[in-house]
Amino acid sequence: MQAFIYQAQSARVIFGSGTGGQLADEAARLGLKRLLILCTPGQTALAERAREWAGERAVGVFAGATMHTPVDVTERALVAVRDLHADGVVSIGGGSTIGLGKAIALRTDLPQIVLPTTYAGSEMTPILGETKDGRKTTQRSPKILPETVIYDVDLSRSLSPRISALSAFNAIAHAVEALYAPDTNPVISLMAEEGIRTLVATLPRLIEFPDDPAIRSGMLYGAWLCSCCLGSTTMGLHHKLCHTLGGAFDLPHAETHTVVLPYVMEFNAPAIPDAMARLSAAMNTGDPVNSLLALGRLCRVPAALKDIGMPEEGIGRAVRQLLENPYVNPRPLDAAVLTELLERAWSGAGSRTSG
Ligand code: NAD
Repeated sequence: MQAFIYQAQSARVIFGSGTGGQLADEAARLGLKRLLILCTPGQTALAERAREWAGERAVGVFAGATMHTPVDVTERALVAVRDLHADGVVSIGGGSTIGLGKAIALRTDLPQIVLPTTYAGSEMTPILGETKDGRKTTQRSPKILPETVIYDVDLSRSLSPRISALSAFNAIAHAVEALYAPDTNPVISLMAEEGIRTLVATLPRLIEFPDDPAIRSGMLYGAWLCSCCLGSTTMGLHHKLCHTLGGAFDLPHAETHTVVLPYVMEFNAPAIPDAMARLSAAMNTGDPVNSLLALGRLCRVPAALKDIGMPEEGIGRAVRQLLENPYVNPRPLDAAVLTELLERAWSGAGSRTSG
């Protein structure tokens, strides 16, 4: 056994069906009396449910959350926080909404209660990615980690099969990179394997039976495990690449993760035999890269960056941005390998061994 450090995350987690109804009790537990509820413009119905659950503790709704957490949106939300004298925020929605809650918490230290409705996994991490002037920068702080996470399986039932699948690939990416992270540990590796195993096994059934509560429960359980992996380890090339592309070209987050992951896995594979063995076990396959690509085809998710809005001439700019801030990755990176990898992902070339 190699030496390791394990640091447990301090978030309180409530998991089940109908658990949203515990929102007022959880707010009381944190001593919160004036909650500002956050959502995206398209999710006001969800915010209304949270408002009902919070009862007299809800003082307002800010429905302006946007993907990639633009700083100008945070500044507008902070005005609402001050005007309403909020003493806590409730984020109900996917990573876009959760990102806004985190950005507010970073600046105000207000406690956060999160009700995640996608599988993107931001809720269990002390990480915030913010966008300003076309650049996404990421930071970690204990202030960013939500205090309480209420996983209510029922909230994810309205996610379409397509968004569910994309979000699940995003979750799988967290666990994959945790398996070879420089600060991984045995507990996180177990969570990563179990998270990948659960999502890969459940996803095909979800596409067929998207409203099945047991299947939704499995998906959310897998997503939670993958989220823990993200929050506890340092991500490598895959996450760096997706953040760079998302910030520079405003690409959709989950789609970008879905397209890029098989290419990064294939690139890193020769340098991560242990992680690939764990991936093979978790996915029940001898060929994790091609199995992942096949799962993507089954779920009909995009397979090329060109199909999700990336301009081909943007490859050079992305490579330059990636090389500006070096970071840990199992295989060394330079302009040539990054360009080739991005060209393959841009065109949707598939794996080198696909036949
Ligand atoms: P999102 O919140 O924008 O949601 C994706 C889509 O799902 C949207 O179209 C949304 O309207 C829809 N949706 C959400 N909940 C729904 C529901 N209950 N029913 C129907 N539709 C629903 O995006 P996301 O993929 O969840 O998260 C992406 C964002 O989160 C990005 O900004 C990313 O950077 C951030 N993120 C951050 C971390 C972190 O640790 N900091 C981790 C993962 C993702």
